[in-house]
Amino acid sequence: MSILVPFLILLLIAFAAAYHRLPLLAWALTSWVALAASAALGTNITATVIAAVLVGLVAIPLLIPAIRLPLITRPLLEFYTKILPPLSDTERTALEAGTVGFEGELFSGKPKWDSLLSQPRPQLNAEEQAFLDGPCEELCRMTNDWDISHVRADLPPEIWDYVKKNKFFGMIIPKEYGGLGFSALANHKVIQKLASVSATLSSTVGVPNSLGPGELLMHYGTQEQKDHYLPRLADGREVPCFGLTGPFAGSDATSIPDYGIVCTQTWNGANVVGIRLNFDKRYITLAPVATIIGLAFRMYDPDGLIGDKKDLGISLALIPRDTPGIEIGRRHFPLNIPFQNGPIHGKDIFVPLSVLIGGEEYAGKGWQMLVEVLSIGRSITLPSTSSGASKMAAVVTGAYARIRKQFGLSIGRFEGVEEALARIAGNAYAISALSQATAAAVARGENPAVPSTIAKYHCTTMGREVAQDAMDIHGGKGIILGPRNYLGRAWQGAPISITVEGANIMTRSLMIFGQGAILCHPWVLKEMKAAGLEDPSLRLKEFDRNLFGHIGFAISNAVRAFWFGLTAARIGKAPGDGYTRRYFRKLNRYSAALALMADTSMLLLGGKLKFKEKLSARLGDVLSQLYIASSMLKRYHDEGAPVSDHPLLAWAFHDAVHKMEVALSGALRNFPVRPVGWLLWMLVFPLGRRAQAPSDRLGHRAAALLMSPSDARDRLADGVFLTPCENNPAGRINSYLAKVVLAEPVERKFLKALKNSDIEALNFPAQLAEGVAEGWITAAEKAQLEELRTMTLDTISVDDFDSAELAAASLRPKAAMRSVA
Ligand SMILES: Cc1cc2nc3c(=O)[nH]c(=O)nc-3n(C[C@H](O)[C@H](O)[C@H](O)COP(=O)(O)OP(=O)(O)OC[C@H]3O[C@@H](n4cnc5c(N)ncnc54)[C@H](O)[C@@H]3O)c2cc1C
Repeated sequence: MSILVPFLILLLIAFAAAYHRLPLLAWALTSWVALAASAALGTNITATVIAAVLVGLVAIPLLIPAIRLPLITRPLLEFYTKILPPLSDTERTALEAGTVGFEGELFSGKPKWDSLLSQPRPQLNAEEQAFLDGPCEELCRMTNDWDISHVRADLPPEIWDYVKKNKFFGMIIPKEYGGLGFSALANHKVIQKLASVSATLSSTVGVPNSLGPGELLMHYGTQEQKDHYLPRLADGREVPCFGLTGPFAGSDATSIPDYGIVCTQTWNGANVVGIRLNFDKRYITLAPVATIIGLAFRMYDPDGLIGDKKDLGISLALIPRDTPGIEIGRRHFPLNIPFQNGPIHGKDIFVPLSVLIGGEEYAGKGWQMLVEVLSIGRSITLPSTSSGASKMAAVVTGAYARIRKQFGLSIGRFEGVEEALARIAGNAYAISALSQATAAAVARGENPAVPSTIAKYHCTTMGREVAQDAMDIHGGKGIILGPRNYLGRAWQGAPISITVEGANIMTRSLMIFGQGAILCHPWVLKEMKAAGLEDPSLRLKEFDRNLFGHIGFAISNAVRAFWFGLTAARIGKAPGDGYTRRYFRKLNRYSAALALMADTSMLLLGGKLKFKEKLSARLGDVLSQLYIASSMLKRYHDEGAPVSDHPLLAWAFHDAVHKMEVALSGALRNFPVRPVGWLLWMLVFPLGRRAQAPSDRLGHRAAALLMSPSDARDRLADGVFLTPCENNPAGRINSYLAKVVLAEPVERKFLKALKNSDIEALNFPAQLAEGVAEGWITAAEKAQLEELRTMTLDTISVDDFDSAELAAASLRPKAAMRSVA
């Protein structure tokens, strides 16, 4: 037995050193000291010496650079350069554009939670809050989504005017240029609120504050361009659009065939050097009403008029709408969400070089410019839209499920409905935390490339699920369109968010992990950069430093993943309170598993990993769920760890963990190198897959939370337009909830009297009168039941129309249109 003791000691020390990420020297010294101590205590001397020699055999070559560099690092560098193809310019640009925030910790296998929890709580300043409570609230009040989406297929003139006058289009433009100079958080909150009443409105306001002329001018515009355009964009004198997509270039936007040739032509009476443009764009938001078109095209200078380069590459220009040769104004009709969207065509249009954003200096740098600012808009517009729509759907569906009764019960009491309600509650909680976390990252000055793809994909995907569940729960009430319908358009429009700004399938399969693995990984990008260094000796040294950091990191993650798997992540240091500590521990586990899987996949597949989209998508799911769960925990602690939020946090957290395990197990079962997949399975799931979807009991608590007034429910609804008013049927229904709950005991008493035939009248007013007369209810209770009936009717009623009102707008008699409006 004592022969084995030294080797056991060695194993334990190696395990602990890897778990705690001790340097190699510390591991070797600790091992030798422990072996010496064990020998002194009487372990077998021969075995102890063999163990000590083993440590030396591993440690000495690795610790002495003169041995390590030529014998180990150099061959590994050659192998590495072979398996990893050089980054394409597009990939390099995308990677260099982004910054890395907390998501980098999630890739570390040992996240530093303090760096997340110590970030200041995201907050609006007084001016931003006043804007939300003032103009934004008023705009919501003015908005009649039925009028917009059915009657006019456009925002009414008074809303266009209000939006421009109150500088909704200039939220991101600095004050010195006449804009509102709002933070990204304020931008998020405004879009979130507008989306809770109308997707047409939130898209119209979102686009000028997202990637487009305003953002590009602020970053790259010449002073003259900024001075001219920014004040005009801020107050709506100019309406911008941005045209990148065309029939032959959708997701693969770098392949645009649109081109501009540098040439000389007479322009405004003078012979000037300019660009002759030919382009064919489609799906361009705001194009039909835009006054200024941001245009992406490939620029060529065949005659060398501005330099030696003939193919300058993608360039960006600002073209006034009235430029001769532009065809603009026709509209697409995106799924009954009639924000302005349409094609733009240009044939042999001549424009001076001064239209280039940033001037000649930026000719050919268009892709880099787009990618550098892309994450900012992508972090806000679509995630915030999903958040507003989902929060609204959550609270109004909860209220509806309580008010609407079938089989003598609120429909939300039936387990089938409860299951869907719980999903809505959990998803809305997750979306809200995720969208806010990403906006807060932008507000802190980050350029969150990876979180923006996570937020874009998951907020829109979960948002679509919320819309679908809410529709199912509303039954016919959700289906019959009209002024009383607050769900149908959001449900119809969900695929728009899924498709734009990086269609979701591609975002999940290619971008989240594809960018995350390189950008967030603590070593990979450094290794790639080192391997690309010109100076051979510096290349070897830098590669050596990063490679051995990486190897230590990988060993540590294997050990940590195995240990957490073995202990079900029940032990270990973690922050949080009594409730969330176990959650943080679980995230430590999956962070280690992700890092292990990512390293193994990159090592075995190298550049081919890009084409293994299913593996990349699943690893991206793990990274995404880690980010979503961290955002929820951050938000929960920012809000003072409210106990009443537990059902929402717990449901959403268990859902995230379950999704992580499904993704990990899918990746392992389908791992391209099968024996490696089996080995990884033993490390990641030594006791098998354990995480379960949220339990029915938890689902019951989450669903119940939506159906009764509470501070947790108010927090979930925070930031959406709930003011009960004529244009806001959802706000009205939500406002009834407290009174409906109060009236329920009286209603039960009254229904019992009816059931027992104590009250025999056949219609409601007569039944109430009889109930009072015979003492079954008091006069005050009668009034309460009458109010309940009015509220219930408002909640369950749907619209009907005469045929003329429903005819296509172009066929509709003017009078009918006015009556609907
Ligand atoms: C309503 C609306 C508004 C828009 N507004 C604008 C705008 O203002 N300006 C602008 O320039 N563009 C705009 N777009 C364009 C939008 O960004 C593109 O539609 C989007 O990039 C997808 O292109 P596509 O529709 O041609 O789909 P495709 O590129 O044909 O993609 C079809 C499917 O294939 C998938 N796919 C493609 N490549 C891959 C891959 N490598 N791996 C996995 N899956 C892949 C996609 O995810 C998608 O599911 C808008 C589009 C719509 C519908």
